[in-house]
Amino acid sequence: MALYVYKFGGTSVGTPERIKAVAERVKQARDAGDQIVVVVSAMSGETNRLVGLAKQMQEQPTDREMDVLLSTGEQVTISLLTMALHSIDCDACSYTGSQVKILTDSSHTKARIRDIDVSKMHDDLQAGKVVVVAGFQGVDENGNITTLGRGGSDTTAVALAAALKADECLIYTDVDGVYTTDPRVVPKARRLDKITFEEMLEMASLGSKVLQIRSVEFAGKYNVALRVLSSFSEGKGTLITYEESEMERALISGIAFNRDEAKLTLTGVPDLPGVASKILGPIAADNIEVDMIVQNVGENGTTDFTFTVNRNDYLRARALLDTLCVDLGGKQVSGDNSIVKVSIVGVGMRSHAGIASTMFKVLADESINIQMISTSEIKISVVIDEKYLELAVRSLHHAFGLDKE
Ligand code: ASP
Ligand code: MG
Repeated sequence: MALYVYKFGGTSVGTPERIKAVAERVKQARDAGDQIVVVVSAMSGETNRLVGLAKQMQEQPTDREMDVLLSTGEQVTISLLTMALHSIDCDACSYTGSQVKILTDSSHTKARIRDIDVSKMHDDLQAGKVVVVAGFQGVDENGNITTLGRGGSDTTAVALAAALKADECLIYTDVDGVYTTDPRVVPKARRLDKITFEEMLEMASLGSKVLQIRSVEFAGKYNVALRVLSSFSEGKGTLITYEESEMERALISGIAFNRDEAKLTLTGVPDLPGVASKILGPIAADNIEVDMIVQNVGENGTTDFTFTVNRNDYLRARALLDTLCVDLGGKQVSGDNSIVKVSIVGVGMRSHAGIASTMFKVLADESINIQMISTSEIKISVVIDEKYLELAVRSLHHAFGLDKE
């Protein structure tokens, strides 16, 4: 007998009909002899609707009250799904996060899971019941309801799978797996049968929004086999797992990109110890996240400093730099908020030389100018003008043999 944690996202439970379809799928699995724990999100649009209601009461509601409010979305879904299961003679019981209980810290709206009490779930599973758990929520040690951040039901599912030592955690969503790149940009993008946790983390943090990043980190840490698949079609989806020798064959697993980038340059700053920290300190203090950083070789005692930020933070960062430029005696500030980042990702590049030069040659052949470069063990990223994004992604996808036949 196997134990599975199924997670259904908002669109998969978006209407009463869809909830009934989920119930059918769950009952089938239970009837086949498996033990099933189901985690559900709020019905699609519900969390946003609740956020809208809150805004009508108060400009800045407290995080604690937001959690009390937002947790209701998932509570609706667990009860409806459990009723749907009962209506087709499948024994089931629903639990909120605090009933289970999923103990978290007290950071409202972005709480972290500390511990999960599996005893009640085990009893129910032993008795042949399907256990239905509300995603995205927990309870702190003082009994306050907490939530795990938007998209947090993925993390609930993975955490339950780890705590229950489940055989697999299946994330049912509206896409049928993880793709080599966004199929809307490259119609020849392929669904991957497998991808490693590390690659998935790079793909997710670079803007492929299939799973909440934290859920992938959690799955990697506790070695939870994680599968992404569609609730609207059949198919095995994509398995996210540890590296296997068979997987080492592919040099590049996918191409990620991020359109929300901007870059800022400060020229003619003194080339002295402490300057980078004087520039980036105030940026960090203002909660602006910096991604790539490049400092030029100094000349005549001065140097240039360039970094990228999220496009939403561009104007704020620029205003800060204008002040810093004066304070540090720099020459000038310039910037560009129409850049994008394109990255090739693959564990295969660990053991192969020449991947970077292939990437740069492909871009050169398309006359695409590279403005910045950064690398890690399994990723090479370039910053380019946003007007070349589609061309760059398509050419790289082709050149690295990722196109489907
Ligand atoms: N309902 C929450 C959200 O929309 C959590 C989730 O769906 O995972 O972010
Ligand atoms: Mg989601």
